[in-house]
Amino acid sequence: MTPRGWAVLTLTALVVALLLASALLVPWHRPPAPRADQLAALRDLPVDQVARAREFRAALRPGSYGALLAGLLVALLLGLTPLGARLVELAGRPFGDHWIARAVLGGLAVVLVADLITLPFAAWRQSVLTRYGLSTHGWSGWTVDLLKSYAVSAVIGVVALLGFYTVTRLAPRWWWAFAAAGAAGLVVLLSFVLPVLVEPVFNRFTPMAQGPLRTELMAMAARDGVPVRDVLVADASRRTKAVNAYVSGLGPTRRVVVYDTLLSEATPAEVTSVVAHELGHAKQRDVAVGTLTGALGSAAAVVALYLLGSWPPLTRLAGVESVAEPRAFPLLIALVTVAGLVAAPAQALISRRVEARADAHALALTGDPATFEAMQRRLAGVNLADPDPPRWEYLWSASHPSTVERIAAARAYVREAGG
Ligand SMILES: [Zn+2]
Repeated sequence: MTPRGWAVLTLTALVVALLLASALLVPWHRPPAPRADQLAALRDLPVDQVARAREFRAALRPGSYGALLAGLLVALLLGLTPLGARLVELAGRPFGDHWIARAVLGGLAVVLVADLITLPFAAWRQSVLTRYGLSTHGWSGWTVDLLKSYAVSAVIGVVALLGFYTVTRLAPRWWWAFAAAGAAGLVVLLSFVLPVLVEPVFNRFTPMAQGPLRTELMAMAARDGVPVRDVLVADASRRTKAVNAYVSGLGPTRRVVVYDTLLSEATPAEVTSVVAHELGHAKQRDVAVGTLTGALGSAAAVVALYLLGSWPPLTRLAGVESVAEPRAFPLLIALVTVAGLVAAPAQALISRRVEARADAHALALTGDPATFEAMQRRLAGVNLADPDPPRWEYLWSASHPSTVERIAAARAYVREAGG
């Protein structure tokens, strides 16, 4: 069998594995609460709060979708015309067209162009956040954050580009197999190291101060059978008024993080409710499952890129001989960008189901639906979230159930527990 034949076989196996993983590991049996219950929850929210949140979300939309569209257009322009290949050549010229210069500098140049094109939209977003009082760090803090995120992407980018183009040179026929394994390995590695290497670049993390709240949280984790070494507090208040909490990391790097804004805004009972939700993620191993599906997905993407990228009409458009050469990097970026847009609704749907399960876990663990509902109201109020966003936007990008869905789920829990 030819390498191409093996690639088709491998891609089929990876897609089947992905479908199996999402069929078995995503909690599909937990559909959102009935629409009538959601609308009842919406009617109970303060009218002016809902109006202000909707105004804020509408103000963000031109920037968000403008960035999306501009990013797509520049990716297609560079990837499906010889312009991108020209840019890669240009980056390598001062270094005698050496392949490493083309691979690394050319690759970074392509990413930088896309970043610069979307920069005005990011600035627009920041100005809206400031106008509505959500951002606290001003333009200097925003710029520093931006430069830091460019630096982090550049480091990860250099490793990925150098690794990928070394493999395409060493194994011209079988590079896709090594690259697929490498991409999957990189996803797993990043899940481990992001909390300890990358998150501290942007925030300071300190163990939660000793006191009744910490004691309560640790006792709850123990009761839940989720070993938690510590609850960490992130100094999110340096950039935002928004409140949040999350779990990240795997095994020895797993941690529960709460924003300091959450501690100052919410009551201790509400913080407990939020941490109970995060314990749900930890208990169900959502980070590990997300990493596994991410690894399978990236491996499948590499094999698909190999197969699609050796399709002559595409390589002709990009003005390259083979998808494996650094000059074809913009073509890869174009294909990845389109695939990302196509996959977004499916990713959002899976994320919402996983989040709904963590909510159910929080309700069962605390047995306190009233506080859960109060916390959802507060989250929506402080973060200026539209409690019932437009359907198309919800289906396209909502990573969490809407506020009215979460409140309706809490009320359904009361009915079920009482009846
Ligand atoms: Zn969550």
